[in-house]
Amino acid sequence: MSNKPMPIQTAISAPFWDGLKAGKILLQHCSACAKWTFYPRRHCSHCLSDQVEFREVTGAGTLYTYTVARIPTLPEFAGPEPQLLAVVELDEGVRVNTTLVGLQESDIEIGMRVKPVRARVSEDGTVLLRFTGANVDLVELDEVPQQPEAPAVDTDAAPARQVALTDEAGLQALVSEEFSPWSNQLLVDQAMINQFAELSGDNYWIHTDPERARKEGPFGGTIAHGALVQVLTSKLQLDLGFEITGFTNMVNYGSQRLRFPSPVPAGSLIHSRARVKSIEKVRSGTQMVLEMNIHVVGQERPAVINDLIILYM
Ligand SMILES: [Zn+2]
Repeated sequence: MSNKPMPIQTAISAPFWDGLKAGKILLQHCSACAKWTFYPRRHCSHCLSDQVEFREVTGAGTLYTYTVARIPTLPEFAGPEPQLLAVVELDEGVRVNTTLVGLQESDIEIGMRVKPVRARVSEDGTVLLRFTGANVDLVELDEVPQQPEAPAVDTDAAPARQVALTDEAGLQALVSEEFSPWSNQLLVDQAMINQFAELSGDNYWIHTDPERARKEGPFGGTIAHGALVQVLTSKLQLDLGFEITGFTNMVNYGSQRLRFPSPVPAGSLIHSRARVKSIEKVRSGTQMVLEMNIHVVGQERPAVINDLIILYM
């Protein structure tokens, strides 16, 4: 989940941030020396006069310098890479640290004319000032992280079909070739992959080194550990449409089949679905095999196939 630090308004900088929310770029202008100051502060950065007031500017400028960050500058700022970090010199003479958007690396040239792009980055309406080429048709961006949509919980819906453990025919009727509806979606980002690498000790570069994985790996970037994607099952809520009743104990007995047929690149959204593959009486109770498949959203081929064995006693 992208959770980048957000700007914190101060009394002095609030007009700048509020201006962006309202679609305006406000810079401080000094009435003593007629020059402009950025970032917002108490006094003019040229003559130190405190006679500064916010005025609206167009945001047009030129690219002063830039760099292509292929790995995050800080873990907090991870994703998506590469990031086109830049300094733009506005026509008023002030320089702004920013990110270029809507441009290919090959389009970027120091000294090129640029124009502002208002990027909405959080639900509370916070807007960051980004820039793009003067000829690019882009004015606004919505970068608010897509929260995985929780499956709608309809409390008025009919309760899930209840099947007693003693109801042999009822249990067999749950076995199906049809999968359940999809679960909620979950973002697997580099930060999560790094956490799992640390926890598991598996920090093979294909998972943790975006630069090397981009150059040498077969997938053009890092991928999640299969085991990580497998355990994320717990965060993917499924409505199987039934509920087994009348047991005293239910245990996860492991897996009959576990496969990782396709990779989950860092930055992918995943979701899952499941079906009851078989139910049978065994010596210790009743054993259900639940085929749980996890896919990258939009991908036909599963990333994880896991035939979970659940033992009811
Ligand atoms: Zn001044």
